[in-house]
Amino acid sequence: MSPSSHSIGKSHERATEQLRQRWVLGIDLGGTTIKFGLFQGDHLIWRNHIRTEEFDSLDSAFEACRQSVEETLRTSSKDLTDLSAIGLAMAGVLDPKEEALAETANLHRWHHLNFRQQLTDVFKKPVAVLNDADAAALAESVHGLCRAESLVLLTLGTGVGGGVIVNGRPLRGANGCGGEIGHATIQFDQDARLCGCGFPGHLEAYAGSAGVVQTANELMQSSQDESSLNSAKRLTPLAIANAAALGDRVATQTIDQTAIYIGRAISMLAHVLDPEVVLLGGAMNFGGPGTDIGKRFIEGVRAECLPRSLTQISRNLQIEFATLGNDAGIVGAAHFAQQLAEQEGSDSIR
Ligand SMILES: [Zn+2]
Repeated sequence: MSPSSHSIGKSHERATEQLRQRWVLGIDLGGTTIKFGLFQGDHLIWRNHIRTEEFDSLDSAFEACRQSVEETLRTSSKDLTDLSAIGLAMAGVLDPKEEALAETANLHRWHHLNFRQQLTDVFKKPVAVLNDADAAALAESVHGLCRAESLVLLTLGTGVGGGVIVNGRPLRGANGCGGEIGHATIQFDQDARLCGCGFPGHLEAYAGSAGVVQTANELMQSSQDESSLNSAKRLTPLAIANAAALGDRVATQTIDQTAIYIGRAISMLAHVLDPEVVLLGGAMNFGGPGTDIGKRFIEGVRAECLPRSLTQISRNLQIEFATLGNDAGIVGAAHFAQQLAEQEGSDSIR
């Protein structure tokens, strides 16, 4: 390397390092709360949240965020001019051009609003918008226990969401539906269950919480075994996990069957994306990594997925539980903002 190219390399490194120290804001817009966190680089300095029901418009809610952020910056002898970019994570399918919500389960009130424009109007800063599952996946890829440049996160709960990270960046797709794993078809029979979206046979109809309860009900009807689930007041995945922990065979079979559905979907994904890591996140983890039932669940997912997969995949693919909790949305949104700031910064360096 010549001395001049060496010094150019050094100054570029310094500039990149400066960009990494920039202040960014991560916002996680949910159905009932807006969480926001102020970050220097990827380091969370401060976090807060507001309840959306207290505001009659999105503008006024964002204005409240701005005031709160401004006050915090002041305590660090900073102001809004020190903020480089904002990342916004939100639930639902984003229209890739307008960055409004094209489809959503729980943000009906703000359907088709242009969130990026409204945030830009309030903060006068560049805004990067991404789906909340993509944000959580991005956060796991840089801060989780299983970090990887290529990673898939399935969020298991009422629905089955998904975030896909390829080469360190969220995969959004041509229509904003990249990573909508819950709506991949896993059952093609005539009597396949209907998904909440209206189409038959989707993973969510089998591995979302209502789908798991339906599996338990079907097994209760067909099984010869007595089950404590018959007398459960309200059947939920948690009640099923608790019954399985006490040795209930129908509950255990329900979890095993759910693992099979998820394992099949992951095997399909693995042959399209070939990720290093697939993580299972969300509230429905049947006890998670700290319990025997949680371990049985994830082992069941691996046992279904890996033998169906090409050797290179089955030897190397890690399937684990996600490790970041509630902050994953703001952490991922802030990291996405950091990527935007770096991109804009490197454009100006050139
Ligand atoms: Zn569906």
